[in-house]
Amino acid sequence: MADSFDIIVIGGGPAGYPAAIRAAQNGLSVACIDEWKNHDGSAAFGGTCLNAGCIPSKALLESTELYHRAHAEFAVHGIRTSGVEMDIAAMQKRKADIVRNMTGGILALFKAAGVTPLQGHGRLLPGRQVEFTPHEGEKRTLSAKHVVLASGSVPVELKVAPFDGRRVIDSWGALELASVPKRLGVIGAGVIGLELGSVWRRLGSEVVVLEAMDSFLSIADQQLAREALKALKKTGLDIRTGAKVTGATVKGKEVVVTYTDARNPDKAEQSLSVDTLIVAVGRRPFTGGLLAEGAGIALDERGFIKVDDHCRTGVEGVWAVGDVVRGPMLAHKGKEEGVMVADLIAGRYGHINYDVIPSVIYTAPEIAWVGQTEEQVKASGRAYKTGVFPFLASGRARAMEAAGGFAKVIADKDSDTILGVHIIGPLAGELIAEAVLALEYKATAEDLQRTIHAHPTLSEAVHEAALAADRRAIDSLNR
Ligand code: FAD
Ligand code: AMP
Repeated sequence: MADSFDIIVIGGGPAGYPAAIRAAQNGLSVACIDEWKNHDGSAAFGGTCLNAGCIPSKALLESTELYHRAHAEFAVHGIRTSGVEMDIAAMQKRKADIVRNMTGGILALFKAAGVTPLQGHGRLLPGRQVEFTPHEGEKRTLSAKHVVLASGSVPVELKVAPFDGRRVIDSWGALELASVPKRLGVIGAGVIGLELGSVWRRLGSEVVVLEAMDSFLSIADQQLAREALKALKKTGLDIRTGAKVTGATVKGKEVVVTYTDARNPDKAEQSLSVDTLIVAVGRRPFTGGLLAEGAGIALDERGFIKVDDHCRTGVEGVWAVGDVVRGPMLAHKGKEEGVMVADLIAGRYGHINYDVIPSVIYTAPEIAWVGQTEEQVKASGRAYKTGVFPFLASGRARAMEAAGGFAKVIADKDSDTILGVHIIGPLAGELIAEAVLALEYKATAEDLQRTIHAHPTLSEAVHEAALAADRRAIDSLNR
C-alpha cells in the first residue's frame, strides 16, 4: 500500500467520508483514516452520525412512533387492535441492522471510488505527515499534499452528573437501552434530549426533561417553540424549563437528581428520582490525540479547530471540517464542508452558504426551520411580514390524522425576499427542503405563491403560508 497520497482525511464521519469520496471523484489519490469502534469492538466508518447519532436515533423514532400510533391512533381509522406489544430486542436489532448496512455501505462506496480505507488512529505531524496506528499492526508514517481533519465531536459530560455507563448515560447509551426505564430523566431540552426523550416516552417511560434555560428551544423561532412545547408536553414529556441540574447521585437502583428551579427561587433545591438519567447537554469538538506537537493547528477557546470560511486552518495544506470546526453541529453541514474542501483542493469551485442550513428535530410533531427567526429579523430592524398556515386547514394533514402545527413564512416587507421558514407538523423535515431551495435562490414570497403545489399535499402549507404573508391565503383565515 502507498505511503503517500494527494489527500489524507482523518475521520470517516459525515464530514470526512464525503470529502474522501469527492476527492477520489476529482481524480486525486486519497486515504481516509477512522478509529471508530462499536460497543461490540467492531470497527466501522460513518462516525457519530451513522453509528451513534442521526441514523440509529431515526430508526428508533420510527419504530416507537409506529407503536405509539398503533395504540393512540389506529382506532380513529377504524382499525381494531388488541395485544399490540413492543419487542425491544427486535426493535434494537432492526436499528443495528440498519446501522451495519449503512456503515458497510461506506466501505463499498470507498471501494467503488478508489478511496483507501484505513481503520485506526491518525495523528497530524508537522509537514503534512500523518502517523497512522492501525487497530492491529504496526504504526506507519504517511505523507500527503493535503490533510483534512474531520475528527468530529463527543458528548459533553456534566461535572455534577458524571457518566457511569449504566444509570447515568450519554446519547449513545440512550440508543442502546435493552429495556424501558420506568422513570427516565433527561438533562437538556436540546434536539438530542427531545428526540431521545420521545423514543422512551412512547414506549411508556415517565420522562422528565430538565432544561437550565428559562426559555424553550431558544435557537428556534419562538412562535414555533411555544407550539412545540405545547405539543411535546401533550405527548407526555414533562419538560421543566429553568431547571438547572446541580447534582446526580446513583443510589442503589436509582439516580437522585437535584436541580434549582428558576420558577421557584425561594424554594430550596428540588430533587427527582429516576431509574436512568440521560445527559444530553450538548457536544464538544474532539481533537484527542489528533495533533502532534509542532503541527501548528490553532484551537479556539472552546476547543474548535480555527478555520476560515473555506475551512482552511492556518497551516498550508491542512483543512478542517464538520463538528470539529465552528458552525452548527449537523451532519449535512459537515458533508457540504467536506465536499467543498475536496473541490477546492482539486482547483474547482467550492462555497457554503452558512446562512441557509436547515435544522430539523425529528419529534412528533416534527420541527424544522431555515433562515432567520422572527426574533432575529425583528432585532435586525428591517420591516417584515409573516404568514402562517395551520395544518388544521390542510386536507392531507387531516387525512393523515396529523393536523397539529403550522408553516410560517417570514419575508422582507419591501423586497418580498424570503428571510426564514419555520414548520412544525407532519414531515416538517421533508417540507423544509423547498424552503431551503427558496432561500438559496433568494426567492420572494411571490415566487412561492406562484409555484404550483400538488393537491392534496402537505407542501401546500408552505404555499399557503407564503400567500398568507400578503393576506392572500385561500384555504385559511389569513394570520
Ligand atoms: P463524527 O460523526 O463525530 O465523526 C468523526 C469520526 O472521526 C469518528 O468516527 C471518530 O472516531 C473519528 N476520529 C476522531 N479522531 C480521530 C483520529 N485521530 N484518528 C482516526 N479517527 C478519528 N445531525 C444531523 O444533521 N441530523 C440528525 O438527525 C442528527 N441526529 C443526531 C442524534 C444524536 C443522538 C447525536 C449524538 C448526533 C446527531 N446529529 C445529527 C449530529 C451529527 O451526528 C454530527 O453533526 C455529525 O456526526 C458530525 O460529523 P463529523 O464527521 O464532523 O464527526
Ligand atoms: P443542545 O446544545 O442543543 O444539545 O442542548 C443542550 C441543552 O442542555 C441546552 O439547552 C442547555 O441549556 C441544557 N443544559 C446544559 N447544562 C444543563 C444543566 N446543568 N441542567 C439542565 N440543562 C442543562
